[in-house]
Amino acid sequence: MHRIRFLLSAFAALFLLLSGFNAIAANINDIRVWNSPDRTRIVFDLSGPVEYKFFELKNPNRIVIDFSDSKFTGLLPKSGELGNRVSKIRTGKHDDLIRFVIDLKSTVRAEHFTLIPIENYGDRLVLDLYAKLAKKQKSKPKKVDDEFIVVIDAGHGGEDPGAVGAAKTLEKHLVLKIAKQLQKELNKVKGIRAELTRKGDYYIPLRKRRKIAADLNADLFVSIHADAFTKRSANGISVFALSQHGATSERARVLAQKENSADFVAGENLSQKDRDVAETVVDLSYQGQIGRSVALGSMVRTRLSRVGRLHGHGVEQAGFAVLKAPNIPSILVEVGFISNPKEERSLNKKSYQKKIVKEIATGVVQYAKKYPWGQERWRTSSIQ
Ligand SMILES: [Zn+2]
Repeated sequence: MHRIRFLLSAFAALFLLLSGFNAIAANINDIRVWNSPDRTRIVFDLSGPVEYKFFELKNPNRIVIDFSDSKFTGLLPKSGELGNRVSKIRTGKHDDLIRFVIDLKSTVRAEHFTLIPIENYGDRLVLDLYAKLAKKQKSKPKKVDDEFIVVIDAGHGGEDPGAVGAAKTLEKHLVLKIAKQLQKELNKVKGIRAELTRKGDYYIPLRKRRKIAADLNADLFVSIHADAFTKRSANGISVFALSQHGATSERARVLAQKENSADFVAGENLSQKDRDVAETVVDLSYQGQIGRSVALGSMVRTRLSRVGRLHGHGVEQAGFAVLKAPNIPSILVEVGFISNPKEERSLNKKSYQKKIVKEIATGVVQYAKKYPWGQERWRTSSIQ
């Protein structure tokens, strides 16, 4: 008996010792807040791995996060940045403990997790606040007969800036501008309805972007991106589609890998399945999708040759996660290299953006006329 008690206390001592070693002091350098229709994301930038305690309190609703043995060296977000779920973020120091209190405007479902360093980010603690009572989402109008739906996806957003230009243009801002103009342009065409995956500066997981298209019963999916490369001379426009059997070029492979890492950069709380971005597409439903995607891609690419130099030869293919919506022809357009100072300047000009938008739209309309999607509900004549 004594022996067992001795062993137990020895274990307890060992546990204390080990947990003592695990408690690493880290500073909180900054706090960022991103608001999307689905959630409010609060990101704590940390100087290293950290131990924290999380709990929720009621009356009034608030969330508390305690960091032990830490310092806060940043600034609290301004009230204008907090969005419609958070009313205030406060902080206070209690001995060697720093506490953050997040005052809520309503009940939320909270998720919290830490992230290890990736690209320009160090360790992070992410707090996601989702509306608890799933308010009946303002659902987009259902597809009506003869309507051809194009879902336009502005790449990146929020925590994930995407590529950074020679003069610091952020891909996420540039592609949102182009996506919005493309939506306007396509909505001018009778018979076509264009919808956006994101409307503001927030991140949507790649899987969710495809789901938005599927839920809308989309006929086409167009993801807009801008490239960056270490060699500043790299330039030109390129168009990509999904591949079932490896990439068509080394560049396509590397680019798909880079674009697929967006979920990690943005700090998604990924399941193992989601992490496997290299999952092979074996489903037969992709075969038709890929054929159509390449057809769409070459029409758009040919039109874009009127705007500027094309990069590479033909529509390239690789395993882009965002293009994996079964049965929906999907392309990814890289509108140019923002790492090239000259191309970055052009891309920031409204007149140049307008040209790009016009040619992508023309390519899409050409496709819609040539490949009416489902004859029974689609008449080519409805596009004018
Ligand atoms: Zn991108």
